[in-house]
Amino acid sequence: MIVYICNVKSSTIKYLVKNYTDYKQEIITGRYITLANIEPIIKKLSDLFTIKKIGFSLKKQSIYKITIGNGKNKILFWSQMHGNESTGTKAIFDLFKFLHNPKKLKKLRDEILENCTLVFIPMLNPDGAKKFTRLNAQKIDLNRDAVALEAVESVLLNRVLYDFKPQYCFNLHDQRTIFSIGEDNKPATLSFLAPSIDKARTVTKGRKETMRIIAGINDDLKYLIPNQIGRYTDEFYPTATGDNFQKSGFNTVLIEAGHYKDDYQREITRKYNFIALISGIHQVYVIKKSTYKAYFKIPENKKNYLDLIYTNIFINDEKKAFGIYLKEQLVKNKIIATPIIKELKNYSYLNANKIVRVKHIFNSITEFESFLLEKKYFFDDFTLS
Ligand SMILES: [Zn+2]
Repeated sequence: MIVYICNVKSSTIKYLVKNYTDYKQEIITGRYITLANIEPIIKKLSDLFTIKKIGFSLKKQSIYKITIGNGKNKILFWSQMHGNESTGTKAIFDLFKFLHNPKKLKKLRDEILENCTLVFIPMLNPDGAKKFTRLNAQKIDLNRDAVALEAVESVLLNRVLYDFKPQYCFNLHDQRTIFSIGEDNKPATLSFLAPSIDKARTVTKGRKETMRIIAGINDDLKYLIPNQIGRYTDEFYPTATGDNFQKSGFNTVLIEAGHYKDDYQREITRKYNFIALISGIHQVYVIKKSTYKAYFKIPENKKNYLDLIYTNIFINDEKKAFGIYLKEQLVKNKIIATPIIKELKNYSYLNANKIVRVKHIFNSITEFESFLLEKKYFFDDFTLS
């Protein structure tokens, strides 16, 4: 049996990878992306896009809706509902640049705009973005507020959803570095989810449609980042945005942007996130011949990746191994990573961005901790040494 997936032509994907710098919105880079970074770009988009302020965050920062295209396939995208998850925002602005000037891919751009109406909310939680926090200013997790609608930002998203009534939604997030894929535990650079609508995780008609889109995106990207695309757990979260939107008939693709080796600014991940968006849009309007079943062949995310592993630490003559997670925090407008140390009894099954095998001798764990803290993991010039 031939399973035909309507993916983007592989030559187009290759072109996007090779010429990515033409589409990269260079003005926004790194992890700390705030409204002040994106607002000047939004103001320049009005020649091609329709820009509307849909309201304000709790701290009175503007929330924008950006529309383009005239097609019957309606797709809604939003990013940074978790303020410190900015990779999706960067990918959206790359997509804007592509739509503005597609270079040699004019045919693909025109095809997208004829077939689709695209609506973007590129930073749903500007207060969280400013403080580099997951939560909004009321300390509400917007991705757990779909039923209660306690946050003003959740109300705005809901209003856009019911006004626009999209066939598909793309809910853009970042996942932590800990997620890994496959036997080799490579980092989960992109993970996807077709959210469940009930505890039994029933594979409904709508979920099958969402799964088909994800299977198509995976088919387009799996050769670019082999064994680095994962499937997120489809455990049902009764108050989550995706689960509720999917339940209400709006198929929702969740994209989690994750780690790529040494890419702590997530600038490489951003490129694949951008290509995943183009692929995803394409899957929505092509003739639907692909199968949702391929979704289940995408390997599930595991949590077997660390930032650092030290295998040869001697404390009071006893050999130990330690795993290090870097916790990112905003300190004086810079993202700083603080090492969180965990002793590893068995690390053979784990992988890390860097594995340090050089022998180090300390008198206590506290001394080892001080040694790590002195390294000062500033994300601006981030290197793991
Ligand atoms: Zn998130």
